[in-house]
Amino acid sequence: MNNAIYNFSSPENEPVLKYMKGSPERVELEEELKRQINQEVEIPLIIDGKEIRTGNTTDVIMPHEHGHVLAKCHQAGEKEIGMAIDAALKAHRQWSDLTWTIRASIMLKAADLISTKYRATINASTMLGQSKNIYQSEIDAVCEVIDFLKYNSYYAGKIYESQPKSAFNQLNRMEFRALEGFIFAVSPFNFTSIASNLNMAPIIMGNTTIWKPAPTAILSNYYLMKVYMEAGVPAGVINFLPGNGPQIGKQLMASPDFAGFHFTGSNQTFNTLWKQVSENLTKYKSYPRVVGETGGKDYIFVHPSAKPDEVAANTIRGAFEYQGQKCSAVSRMYVPTSLWPELKELLVDMTNDIRMGEVTNVKNFMNAVIDEKAFDKITGYIEDAKESADAEIIAGGEYDKSEGYYIRPTLVQVKDPRFKTMQEEIFGPVLSIYVYPDEKLEDTIRLCDTTSPFGLTGAVFSKDRVAAARICDQLRYSAGNFYINDKPTGAIVGLQPFGGSRMSGTNDKAGGEFNLVRWVSPRTIKETFVPVSDYRYPYMKE
Ligand code: NAD
Repeated sequence: MNNAIYNFSSPENEPVLKYMKGSPERVELEEELKRQINQEVEIPLIIDGKEIRTGNTTDVIMPHEHGHVLAKCHQAGEKEIGMAIDAALKAHRQWSDLTWTIRASIMLKAADLISTKYRATINASTMLGQSKNIYQSEIDAVCEVIDFLKYNSYYAGKIYESQPKSAFNQLNRMEFRALEGFIFAVSPFNFTSIASNLNMAPIIMGNTTIWKPAPTAILSNYYLMKVYMEAGVPAGVINFLPGNGPQIGKQLMASPDFAGFHFTGSNQTFNTLWKQVSENLTKYKSYPRVVGETGGKDYIFVHPSAKPDEVAANTIRGAFEYQGQKCSAVSRMYVPTSLWPELKELLVDMTNDIRMGEVTNVKNFMNAVIDEKAFDKITGYIEDAKESADAEIIAGGEYDKSEGYYIRPTLVQVKDPRFKTMQEEIFGPVLSIYVYPDEKLEDTIRLCDTTSPFGLTGAVFSKDRVAAARICDQLRYSAGNFYINDKPTGAIVGLQPFGGSRMSGTNDKAGGEFNLVRWVSPRTIKETFVPVSDYRYPYMKE
């Protein structure tokens, strides 16, 4: 029997450990990195709690040393995709019927396992498999994963406690049903935390998922799946299904029991998935929920009152941390002519100073980009900038994929503010800068607002607080996360709820109530105590 009304208190964010030389966390991580470098893992599918090996495998490599194989990963075929649907549907009733505090306790146990026993495992696999340095991995694969789990438990309680009023002779209540069917969770390579949350947000609300991880983030994602099973997620509640995205997507979304997808990735993939939902619409038992966060063309807008040293340091971190492969990374910038000479010198010096290399050397601020496809795409933009009369490379521009997919951080100064590198998502360490005449401030704000189809993140730097407020207002629809005197990356769960507008996604703000509410279908139940026994109204008796 469980008749307690329980509320989780608002959580504290997971502290970011410092990893100073000789610290216990650094020693443990270094040992785990060695262990993972020296082994080759075999990654199975996990369907209905069982490991399945199809024999059709792909290599999981290290982007900073692509000849090194970390794992072999089995790929799902048509049969396994069908098995995953059956497993997710079979597990649904028991999981959604379970008292929600039990589901929350599983989330919280997973959070504590990652904070302690598996911190080094999750960090090392993210560092090696996705080419992140210690700090980038710690804030993502450990702290943000934990924050999502804890905040979701807290916010789920807020949703469940919101009940309608009752009146005389009636009792009203709301039941927050899980969606009828299964959820398709499709995750990107760049954040282990997002991969986790795309599953854990639907499941805390009683849903079951089929998870297609990104092929370039499989190692950390596999370890996460194992932690979730150890924490008590029952068989069939999350079904781990590596394989070909289009094949898996097509088969899952043709199922009448498809109840929605939870996606993060590129704009093109999101559009493809949404179109597939429309094509199958008449087959479904319910209208599916479509929740997706996609790309960005994130900016820093510099007001003439800004301080160049603050702008430069924030720009370098915002543009080049994790090789610019954050959806929120700064990739275009607007600088007034009056500040440009000083700012240019600072930016060029800092960019040239950046050390780049493999992830185990802590001096490296940057590592490799994720794979050859990304390398070729990003360097294509660099070559276009080299060849164009509208652009000039003022720092970086070099690249080499002989051993790892390395691209130097690159600054492109553009003459044309609508040059392609100012408009399109590059998703790499390339920052384009447009220098505007100070007297054209108003025109440049409008330009910033209308240059790209995306609306994810943006920032203004200004010492003039009134000007900052005005720019914030004028750029209202250009970013779902806006920053004043800070870089536009590094949103923290519970503190800066994250999601973009325009072509950057459905903006359901992961890690909070707005997102969780998408994974329930409320049922209102009215009970009448003394029902009428005469169809006529009393006044009719006159
Ligand atoms: P991607 O679109 O290439 O892939 C995302 C996932 O979709 C992968 O698992 C991939 O295998 C799968 N996929 C691809 N085609 C599919 C199909 N037809 N059917 C089903 N699944 C399919 O994105 P990526 O390169 O992994 O991630 C980078 C992108 O993600 C960038 O555009 C970035 O801006 C975006 N992103 C956005 C946010 C955000 O919160 N807005 C956060 C992180 C990343």
